[in-house]
Amino acid sequence: MYQENKKDNRFAKRFTKKVKNTYSFCLWSAKTVFLLGRQMAQDKYISGIYNYCDKWCEKCTLTKKCFLYAKEQKQLAKHKEKGENPNDLNVVMQDIKESFSETLKLLRKDAKKHGIDITALPEVESEEHDPSGHPLMQTAKTYLKLSHSFLEKLRKIIQEEGGDLIERTEIIPSAANDIGTLRQIVSSYDVILWYHALISVKIHRALQDKMDADEFSQTDADASAKIAYIGVMKSMDALKTIYNWNKALQDDALTLLAKTENLKKGINEEFPGHITFKRPGFDT
Ligand code: SF4
Repeated sequence: MYQENKKDNRFAKRFTKKVKNTYSFCLWSAKTVFLLGRQMAQDKYISGIYNYCDKWCEKCTLTKKCFLYAKEQKQLAKHKEKGENPNDLNVVMQDIKESFSETLKLLRKDAKKHGIDITALPEVESEEHDPSGHPLMQTAKTYLKLSHSFLEKLRKIIQEEGGDLIERTEIIPSAANDIGTLRQIVSSYDVILWYHALISVKIHRALQDKMDADEFSQTDADASAKIAYIGVMKSMDALKTIYNWNKALQDDALTLLAKTENLKKGINEEFPGHITFKRPGFDT
């Protein structure tokens, strides 16, 4: 009985936190559409898959299994049909509003199912833990800052190389072989660009969840840490490619590689559970 009550309290506490977060962020987030996904998930979707990915849908091999992707595609088609620009701020805000109210509706339904009165939630002392001072967070922030300037430099060099290559291929046709190399560099640039902020966000999230110190948070922490880790490993490979490609970028690439090594070590030490954590759909 005591265990049951303890479980119920934990659920109520977690639920309250979820509601508060929903109100305070009031923006699109994969977490807030979890309930939506759960309700609408049929066999064709993997429940909650979008909570454990890097959101790089363009590169995702599981788009057909993702409810969130399907929902976004549907929304895009709707905007196209109406002749709306899906990136227009007003359109984006309207989408957020609709998504938010849909999520709230489902949160209310879920609360009712569990016998929770959403209008009388207990005051939970959910002090927001701030992991900013944690050494791993500091490394992630430094990496974010350094990689940001590195990307700027790399972008300029890629543009120059691209221009030179066009001229070169007009004179020496065999220079066309370098196009493949440049493509590889652009793809490495994309990888570093995509993950440099995501790593920091996921580490922040993982540390915050760990500080919450309950059994659910630990799983969430491992999940976020895993996504950060994958981002670090992919960024490392991309940085090595850049290092071998351009002498002028070697010092910076090396500094970043050292940071990614620290991040890798830090994630493994802080979140050993990420290694065995299985992301639905992605890890078998
Ligand atoms: S699971 Fe794939 S398709 Fe779905 S949000 Fe994540 S990256 Fe995009």
